[in-house]
Amino acid sequence: MSKIDLNNISHSYNSNDPNPIYALNPFSMTWQDGKRYAILGPSGCGKTTMLNIVSGLVRPTAGNILFDDKDVTDLKTESRNIAQVFQFPVIYNTMTVYENLAFPLKCRDFSQNKIDERVKSVADTLNLQSFLNSPARKLTADQKQLISLGRGLVREDVAAVLMDEPLTVIDPDLKFRLRRKLKEINEEFKTTLVYVTHDQNEAMTFADNIIVMSEGEVVQAGSPKELFERPNTTFVGYFIGSPAMNLFDSEIISSNEVNIGSIKIKTNTDLSKVKNKHVKLGIRSEFIDIADKESHNTVKVKINRIEDFGNFKLLTSTLENKIIKSKIDREKPISENEVNLYIPPEKCCVYVDEKLI
Ligand code: ATP
Repeated sequence: MSKIDLNNISHSYNSNDPNPIYALNPFSMTWQDGKRYAILGPSGCGKTTMLNIVSGLVRPTAGNILFDDKDVTDLKTESRNIAQVFQFPVIYNTMTVYENLAFPLKCRDFSQNKIDERVKSVADTLNLQSFLNSPARKLTADQKQLISLGRGLVREDVAAVLMDEPLTVIDPDLKFRLRRKLKEINEEFKTTLVYVTHDQNEAMTFADNIIVMSEGEVVQAGSPKELFERPNTTFVGYFIGSPAMNLFDSEIISSNEVNIGSIKIKTNTDLSKVKNKHVKLGIRSEFIDIADKESHNTVKVKINRIEDFGNFKLLTSTLENKIIKSKIDREKPISENEVNLYIPPEKCCVYVDEKLI
């Protein structure tokens, strides 16, 4: 497995035009050996372009890529020693499941014993043991995708396994189990896994590092906890988490306070040097609690709706004509019409021009 450095990478599919459009704006980052990464963002934001630059399917317009400090920018995919799994199955229909799984090893002259051992291990992991002698064409769509996944995982010596929405055709229950399996494989074999998805749950439950993208821009890279607790931009606050982060148009009124309408909210952010007084206040619904009485950093809200999710209640209320959502402990009594909500200063995020201060 390899450490992968992406240095000042950018890409335009029409770089020869007088006004090229950039699918990827310049960014640099390092993917550590043996970690699990998710590239997350809405459709068209540049996820596949980024992955294809790493695999060598796309040559970046600018910048270079290093695998273990060796420049591979000009190397073709087949010389990069990576495995790829795509959204839809890529298998040989004329071969058996065994032959499909063995193919990447056969091409590299592995011994028959080693091939048997690896194919068996991957087939066990993916529950394909009983199909090994079946022709691949006879399998269902999601079983075929398991073969694709197996071909990606069968070699232990690859620099990284790159997966582009690999579980799209898999049914939800199996999807959940496979994500867990991929995590186990990574933990056991220290395989560097890179996983493209537009599904935040998939990214949050799979990766220890998530790269969030929007419109060709890497907007934040960090652990699920960092993205959840300190979103760098309002986009990340909105895109990550369910419900999305509560965001209020607000104004700075002191070195650490902002307002929501007529209500003062204390934050732990130093606002003394911020020139633009128009900001947004962000607070996750998970960090808001019911307060017994009005006091410092409480807001009185009118309740619109209470939904019981079993492990918590989702309270949708109105604060100064704006909706505020809070996740409340299901055992907490909630009065019918109005309630005081406590907004902890240390959990407040303040944004200027959509960026975290
Ligand atoms: P999706 O989730 O829909 O697959 P994505 O986040 O992977 O999207 P990309 O496929 O990387 O995004 O596309 C980024 C941008 O580049 C989009 O505007 C897309 O239309 C454009 N694009 C992608 N491939 C090409 C290509 N071969 N030629 C021209 N433009 C392209």
